[in-house]
Amino acid sequence: MPSPQFLIRWISFCLFLLVPSVSGAQPVLDLNQQPALTAGEYSNYFQESGEPLSLSQAITQFKTYPVNLGTSQSISLGISVAPVWLKVRLHTDGEAGKSYRFSTETPWLDHIDAWLVHEGRVIEHVVGGDALPYAQRPMQYRYFAFETELPAGETQLYLRVDTLGPMAIPLRISESTRAIQRDISSSYQYGFLYGIMIALALYNLMIYLGIRHSEYGLYALYLLGFVINSLSYTGQLHTWFTPDWGPYFQDWLDIFLMITYSIAGLHFARILLKTRQYAPTLDRITIGVTVFIPAGMLIGALLNNLTLSLLLAFILNTSFAVLFIILGIQAIRHQVATARLFVICSVTAATCICISTAAVAGLLPYNDVTFKLIEVGMAFESICLAFLLAQRFRLTETEKRVALHTARVDPLTGLNNRRGFEHAAYPLWHQQLRSKRDVSVILMDIDHFKKINDRYGHTLGDEVLRSVASLLTHSARRSDIIARWGGEEFLILLPDTNKEQARKHAEQLRRLIESSKIDSDKGEIHFTASFGVSGSAPAALRQNDSFGDGLDDLINAADNALYQVKETGRNQVQLGNATG
Ligand code: GH3
Ligand code: MG
Ligand code: MG
Repeated sequence: MPSPQFLIRWISFCLFLLVPSVSGAQPVLDLNQQPALTAGEYSNYFQESGEPLSLSQAITQFKTYPVNLGTSQSISLGISVAPVWLKVRLHTDGEAGKSYRFSTETPWLDHIDAWLVHEGRVIEHVVGGDALPYAQRPMQYRYFAFETELPAGETQLYLRVDTLGPMAIPLRISESTRAIQRDISSSYQYGFLYGIMIALALYNLMIYLGIRHSEYGLYALYLLGFVINSLSYTGQLHTWFTPDWGPYFQDWLDIFLMITYSIAGLHFARILLKTRQYAPTLDRITIGVTVFIPAGMLIGALLNNLTLSLLLAFILNTSFAVLFIILGIQAIRHQVATARLFVICSVTAATCICISTAAVAGLLPYNDVTFKLIEVGMAFESICLAFLLAQRFRLTETEKRVALHTARVDPLTGLNNRRGFEHAAYPLWHQQLRSKRDVSVILMDIDHFKKINDRYGHTLGDEVLRSVASLLTHSARRSDIIARWGGEEFLILLPDTNKEQARKHAEQLRRLIESSKIDSDKGEIHFTASFGVSGSAPAALRQNDSFGDGLDDLINAADNALYQVKETGRNQVQLGNATG
């Protein structure tokens, strides 16, 4: 599914238009009663309409003009909007040593100023935001956060937020001890979800390196791309690797990670679902989306125009989500195996993304579950897709086996055809030769088969062929290899059987065929067959240990013998003399 953070920003912008603004008396947040919460519903806020305001101007504005009161846990005001001022009234009993953490839990808010005012005096002023290098942030943390103790009584928190991206402010206020516990469990949750995805990505990468089927490589790239993208969007990547890379680095990195990730995702989908075979136009559109939009974003980057690149990123993401589902639906319509599972998992992931988005936008309760549902959805999707790839692999293997089998088997009789015979007979032949063991062949041809066809019809002719095949099969040993050699001609390779034994076996078969019949509307069908036999001489007559030059020679000798039978009257067994 598409890159969540951009989708979040995009959808939250749209959803913002639906969120009503409400004004009313501001409740006081009693931290003794509520030691940890996301404080949107306790926040008064307004947006600057002109020049940046100072704290005292903002305080005046809060006092003198009607301001909004948050209606949900997270305040969301749309994309690229004017700076916002927030005010929260806090109350504590000032227990010594108890500190509180204030944090805005999205890592893409550029500039944040926080003031704590107690009895008309600023007791703390903290400057932060993701535009600051890590070293200059109040806490070396993936999003804006600071910790402080609060004096007894009422303290007001003022926050000024200025950002290019979406103005979604999940302001969390929590006792520090609880915040640390939350950090720990959050680390486990992320570790678990990323662990699933990284393990699957590496596993599929190995499969790709082993068998070179591009869908595995693209899938691995898609998953790794998502994980790195998510690490970047949740601010975690920058905590570890790029803490001091300066303002807006994260915004640009998000965009470029997204290019890799969404291109890999779309190509993975079109190759997996074999879109080109049944929907060439859709396939071309998908390729076009993965070429032209990223090209536009690159131009945006070269012009250092973040807004252009962001806008294109939104378009890419929207197309990505829509295309993913359209590709899946088209595949279902064309009965592509496993397409249904593909749609189920991509729609599930999309739903999870929408829920997280709605939570950040303030339409649904904002909590750990709703915020992290994106990663949960993606982990679910990745497990489903891995299962789907495994299923696909099994189907391909089965198809291959079936194709191979079909290529080697005669469909009318179920016996080997020539190719099947060669595949089975040559290894056996060489084994017999190496161990100097006897081997013989019997070549058999139904007599006057043309007349049977002429008299009883082709269908009954087929019936005769099938009954002869069944007869041969039932009188054969397990190690014998039987093939339909031509129209009404059959070949049997008999290991550990000398020429004389083979002749006896052929004679038995001749009698069996002679005495068999098929009942039909046009009366009983009787038939006979002629046999040419060749093989190694009985040991007593053998002049040396070797026999025969090759299997082909043996078969030719049997063929010559068969020809002689046909010349001299049919329904007989004739020994050939190719070997010593
Ligand atoms: P001979 O005793 O000399 O072997 O005479 P014949 O009629 O058996 O041999 P010939 O080679 O003249 O004819 C073989 C016939 O077998 C001709 C062909 O139409 C028929 N035939 C070949 N394959 C099939 C098949 O799969 N089904 C049926 N019903 N007939 C087949
Ligand atoms: Mg014949
Ligand atoms: Mg023939």
